[in-house]
Amino acid sequence: MPAAAPTITYLDYAATAPLRPEVAAAMAAVHASADGPLGNPTGSHPPAQRARRLLEEARDEVAAFMGRDPAVIVFTSGGTEAANLAVLGVVEVALHKQGEAVVVSSAVEHPAVRESARAAELAGADIRELPVDAAGVIDTDALARALSSRTTVVALMAANNETGVVQPVADVVDAVRSRAPQAFVFSDAVQAAPWLDLAAVAGGADMVSLSAHKLGGPVGVGALAVDQRVVLGPRQHGGGQERERRSGTQDVAGAVGLATALRLVSGDRRAAAARVATLRDRLADGLVGRVEGVHRTVPPGVDVLPGHLHVCVAGVDREELLVALGREGICVSGGSSCASGALEPSHVLAAMGVDPGLAAGALRFTLGTGTTDADVDRALSVVSGAVAALRRIV
Ligand code: PLP
Repeated sequence: MPAAAPTITYLDYAATAPLRPEVAAAMAAVHASADGPLGNPTGSHPPAQRARRLLEEARDEVAAFMGRDPAVIVFTSGGTEAANLAVLGVVEVALHKQGEAVVVSSAVEHPAVRESARAAELAGADIRELPVDAAGVIDTDALARALSSRTTVVALMAANNETGVVQPVADVVDAVRSRAPQAFVFSDAVQAAPWLDLAAVAGGADMVSLSAHKLGGPVGVGALAVDQRVVLGPRQHGGGQERERRSGTQDVAGAVGLATALRLVSGDRRAAAARVATLRDRLADGLVGRVEGVHRTVPPGVDVLPGHLHVCVAGVDREELLVALGREGICVSGGSSCASGALEPSHVLAAMGVDPGLAAGALRFTLGTGTTDADVDRALSVVSGAVAALRRIV
């Protein structure tokens, strides 16, 4: 007889958040409407007009969520594409116009930004990578030193995907405006968007990205806000959709799903953040109290997203622990994983100066709007049991 499927305790919201039922219903309604088939939004007949209306209504909602004008919102296939478009789009124009480009980013960026910077380097740009402190916060003095009249784009995340540490985007914008006014600021807000008011925390940035699947929307949809003053070369060439910035027929149902998810997030942001942070703190205290050798990776007092808890478990191999936890249905993550699913040493923890031995036991718990007290209780009991069992084997 096959083994019964374990009860699932889902604590991996930063990897992808479960699709919210209201989002699934709104997306299904796009295609199953009594109003008839859905056309291509660029067309002129009624089904096309309906598609265009839905797309533009969704754009209005995304713009309102980001505190921007609808005209600056570009729908993308997610956070990765948005980061590529932001970084490589402006680098391409700078290389073409000035024959040089400089990208400033940090040592803790998501691969979507790091690899875009690397691709920019291959195309001829110079790249500068800023260090972070022990909490993973970017060094603003190093930023000030890195900025010059040659800087093209400063690409720094609003909050880190592994640790949840919130970055000082407003200070970054101020530094760039005073020292390198020609440069653009791109803020990767994919992790911040479910929790922070983007208009408040990243309102000064020239480009800001988000991704639907991190906040209860569908996978494969995102948005990049691109301020009017930014001239960027598109990454995808074709029919000139999205005001020539991103060709390809738009995913209307995806855009509706993104807009619906954003509406749900903004309707409940404060209460959800307070509730989830309380659960996260209980999980953290419980782990530290019950499991010997559990260290919170981010020092106390640092601004961290409400759903994130990053710990390192001394003397335990995270791959073995993740397998043991997965067997029991505890869904967490080891931090950064590559496409093969294998865990790589975390560049984020390395940049923070975390001891590599300790980093080998890194675990990321990310809670979300569906997390309950029962999830926390179950995680505490299963994790303490699994760590004890692994230590017995060693
Ligand atoms: N940026 C950050 C900070 C992320 O956490 C992620 C996803 O993990 C991305 C970008 C990429 O987003 P997507 O999965 O939508 O391509």
